Amino acid sequence: MLSKDPADILRTVFGHTAFRGEQEDVVRHVAGGGDAVVLFPTGAGKSICYQVPALCRPGVGIVVSPLIALMRDQVEALRQAGVNAATLNSSIGPEESARVRRDLRDGTLDILYVAPERMTTPGFRQMLSGIPIALFAIDEAHCVSQWGHDFRPEYRALASIAGDYPGIPRIALTATADEATRADILDRLGLNAARVFATSFDRPNISYSIVERDNARRQLLSFLAGHKGNSGIVYCLSRNKVEETAAWLNKEGIRARAYHAGMPGDERNANQDAFLKEESLALVATVAFGMGIDKPDVRYVAHLDLPASIEAYYQETGRAGRDGLPADAWMSYGMGDLVQRRRMIDEGSAPDEVKRVERSKLNALLGVCETAGCRRKAILAHFGESHPGACGNCDTCRSPVETFDGSDAAIKAMAAIYRTGQRFGAGHVVDVLTGKATEKVVELGHDKQAVFGAGKEIDARSWQSVIRQLTAMSLVVVDPGFGALRLSEEARPVFRGERKITLRRDRPRKATEGRRSSQAAIDLPEEARGLFDALRAERASLAKAQGVPPYVVFHDTTLRAMALERPASLTALGTIPGVGETKLKRYGAAFLTVLSTR
Ligand code: ADP
Ligand code: ZN
Repeated sequence: MLSKDPADILRTVFGHTAFRGEQEDVVRHVAGGGDAVVLFPTGAGKSICYQVPALCRPGVGIVVSPLIALMRDQVEALRQAGVNAATLNSSIGPEESARVRRDLRDGTLDILYVAPERMTTPGFRQMLSGIPIALFAIDEAHCVSQWGHDFRPEYRALASIAGDYPGIPRIALTATADEATRADILDRLGLNAARVFATSFDRPNISYSIVERDNARRQLLSFLAGHKGNSGIVYCLSRNKVEETAAWLNKEGIRARAYHAGMPGDERNANQDAFLKEESLALVATVAFGMGIDKPDVRYVAHLDLPASIEAYYQETGRAGRDGLPADAWMSYGMGDLVQRRRMIDEGSAPDEVKRVERSKLNALLGVCETAGCRRKAILAHFGESHPGACGNCDTCRSPVETFDGSDAAIKAMAAIYRTGQRFGAGHVVDVLTGKATEKVVELGHDKQAVFGAGKEIDARSWQSVIRQLTAMSLVVVDPGFGALRLSEEARPVFRGERKITLRRDRPRKATEGRRSSQAAIDLPEEARGLFDALRAERASLAKAQGVPPYVVFHDTTLRAMALERPASLTALGTIPGVGETKLKRYGAAFLTVLSTR
């Protein structure tokens, strides 16, 4: 029988010695019956936030999750830790389904994962009636919002849980950082009275690099040269490009598989499975791949095409380095991407209002691409989080780009925004700056303003770049509704001449050397390296025998700690983070053997 104290469960079941950050507050709040909304970045440890309270409280914990693959993974990981977890979905057979129902009735099921559509079926509601429920967890809660990129209409119906199961705590979790989506989650799920737990969205272990494209394939190859033996994702915009890139990588001696929505289902699943279970494979994919992929040891995410927004970029790159070890986010982009993305927006079927939002989101991402400052600072600023910059773990921090004193240019651009009433998008503001007497400019009398033509010395494209850079610095804010530009509080000191603005002169220098951008290989002292590899080999064979991904047995972080500390007894092994009681019983002897023979 499990002890019901959260800290005990964390230690005995999950093998963690202490809660991380705000985990403990969330766990105690929910275990005590409170509703919660958890906004933590990927890798922060959201699962613990509902798994531990589910095990502390009497009854079964019901977890709503959008993807079958994700549920399977989570269930497998929990079973390995000795938790009676299960899932009900179309992929399980009648016997398994009968067993789940029986355990549910007998009260022996700890955690049950279901898809959102099942949650609302009368059959499932019937099955739950009379059964004690510990809590409802709504994972990937951003799926409820159409502002997110994974909108799932079935999530909307989850709001009814509150009324149908009064008194049972609900916890919604997401790694989506933007304000609009967050607000939507609270509203749509009826969680406005819930306690909100939010932490910094920084992912310090991820290194960001954005290079201007010159020869994308060669650039990718030299980037991948630093990732031998690692697994990662290569994102492409089109299905064709996915197929071509995967085929080409294989020819170049890099094991790669493709994934996109247009492939036959079995092939797609087989490739996804291979990615989860193998240790050195590049998965070349469209954005159809990724949501809910919990693989902790994705060491890099490479973008061969510009994503749609900072939100998308951050979510996609966020799939790297879940285990907290160093990982790379790398992108190559060029003007062509911008043209292509613009066209996709303009030719899309979305209403004009949505298109305006999409254009401004695209522009904001360009700001990150063009920033002369720290990329991390620019990204986090977009999510309303201030970061001191100079992170030392992005390309612009490591090798600064050529810059110039752009204070005058900044003041001119901001004056044009201010004098025209902070109601217009970049196009109009640039027309005013460059003295272009368009119909709109004349009609609004903006050709009579002192700022009209004040920026003739540089061309429209450079002004666009200046404005994007100011946006990235949070001096100018893009109105998410209409794409209108306004000035933030931070603009004042610039106007007063108290703050100098540095602008990037050119596009990024050509990244010819394809220098390795971070120490993405797990850094271990030389003498521990061999042991680590031996432990990995042991893990691989244990995983293979059971047909589960290696990380379900132990994470790299756990193996790393073993290699460094070299525990010599079961008791000592049990103190390694990630080694819970069940795993110690199951795998302790095997790993001790490896540890004692190296
Ligand atoms: P998220 O869902 O927020 O992306 P996960 O729940 O997958 O994150 O956890 C990310 C990693 O952090 C996992 O490797 C997990 O084992 C580890 N982890 C979570 N909580 C703790 C903790 N309290 N102590 C040590 N490791 C933890
Ligand atoms: Zn930086």
